[in-house]
Amino acid sequence: MFSQYDVIVVGGGPSGSSAARKAAEGGVRVLQLEEHTKVGRPIQCTGLLSLHGIELTNTREDIRLRPITGAFVYAPDGTRLKMGGNKLQAHVIDRDRLDQQMMDDAKAVGVDVRIGLKATGWAPGMLEAFEPATGQVYTFEAPLIIGADGAHSRMANWAKLPRPTKKVYGVQVLVPYKAEREDFVEVFIGQELAPNFFGWAVPAGENTGRVGLATDDGVKGARERLNKLLAERYSMDILSVQGGTIPFGLPKQTVTDGVMLVGDAAGQAKPTSGGGIYTGSLCGQIAGDVAASAIKAGDVSQKFLQAYEKGWRVKLERELNFGWHAHRLLCHLSDDQINRVFEWLTMPDVQAILEEYGDIDYPSICMKEIVKHPSMWADLLKRIPAGDWVKAALSLAS
Ligand SMILES: Cc1cc2nc3c(=O)[nH]c(=O)nc-3n(C[C@H](O)[C@H](O)[C@H](O)COP(=O)(O)OP(=O)(O)OC[C@H]3O[C@@H](n4cnc5c(N)ncnc54)[C@H](O)[C@@H]3O)c2cc1C
Repeated sequence: MFSQYDVIVVGGGPSGSSAARKAAEGGVRVLQLEEHTKVGRPIQCTGLLSLHGIELTNTREDIRLRPITGAFVYAPDGTRLKMGGNKLQAHVIDRDRLDQQMMDDAKAVGVDVRIGLKATGWAPGMLEAFEPATGQVYTFEAPLIIGADGAHSRMANWAKLPRPTKKVYGVQVLVPYKAEREDFVEVFIGQELAPNFFGWAVPAGENTGRVGLATDDGVKGARERLNKLLAERYSMDILSVQGGTIPFGLPKQTVTDGVMLVGDAAGQAKPTSGGGIYTGSLCGQIAGDVAASAIKAGDVSQKFLQAYEKGWRVKLERELNFGWHAHRLLCHLSDDQINRVFEWLTMPDVQAILEEYGDIDYPSICMKEIVKHPSMWADLLKRIPAGDWVKAALSLAS
């Protein structure tokens, strides 16, 4: 069965729906494919979305479960740091309903959405898809494909585009949970607890919380460590389990002739938090705009599509690269050194900067302020090893 479109978006997550909507708003014929029959399922997300993300995705009020104003962050030695608490920073959301809303928004502007259809092959100008429910194979023609097919992007492989340089595995459970403050999340840092990433607890329903942990220690490592965290601090009365891969570390290139990659497929999640809804949606919107322009110009060459590559890098590359260096630094820190960083973080002048400039999506803004204060900066350097991150931090001030 053949059908013709201008643009095909593979993937029904936030990045794909943002790209599809923008392309359709630009006046071109768009098909969006999602392999699962239930949009947003299985959920692979904690659903913490910054205010930038809420605004960008137009997240409906009824999808916002809880307002979040701050975090209790725990050091390996148990020291607890209170960050924020005075102003709204984020919302805990219902992730599957957000995916559905974003897909509905795309449909509303004319995107032809097909769910339960899995892209199974690509050649320039052509995409093959399979519908498990009917056994039907479809062939679609379109000069331009947007690969928004997530962490394990097949589109990236078919188009021979480079992959993100790092991945961590996150596992999360829903458990009975009583928050000390319902507008706070909890974050646990430590190489013993969650090697090279972190653990978390986020209030969700009335008396439930999403407790999770991500690490580069493999799936088994993540599960075992999460069980330890649950046994020590929370409940083993597990109501549901979710898990997934978080890729980051920017690939050198995200476009080639007739193909653009967005979101997790392009490694656009934040290396500091693993959050990818905001960044993926932002890049998806840019990709959708460029897709519409490319179709109207009759030019889907890599050269034309560089407008997307350049567009998203102008908005995010510096921040994501800073996050990458911060992540690399964390990978080199012992628990003892992390404890010493926490001592530094509790200093009143550092706290004042965090309070004023803290931003979940743009942590480099805080670092930019810190390097402006030589004594504060020197004190930090005394506590942790030098490395590329120092250059990255200093470059923020320029
Ligand atoms: C445990 C965990 C917790 C997280 N918590 C947060 C958080 O709190 N906040 C946050 O911002 N981010 C979080 N993230 C990251 C966030 O979930 C991703 O960055 C985000 O989903 C990326 O969106 P996307 O649209 O690029 O990819 P996805 O949301 O993965 O969407 C890709 C879609 O493509 C579909 N697909 C794949 N292959 C095909 C194919 N061949 N044919 C058709 N369809 C296909 C998939 O079914 C999927 O629906 C978390 C991730 C994990 C693993």
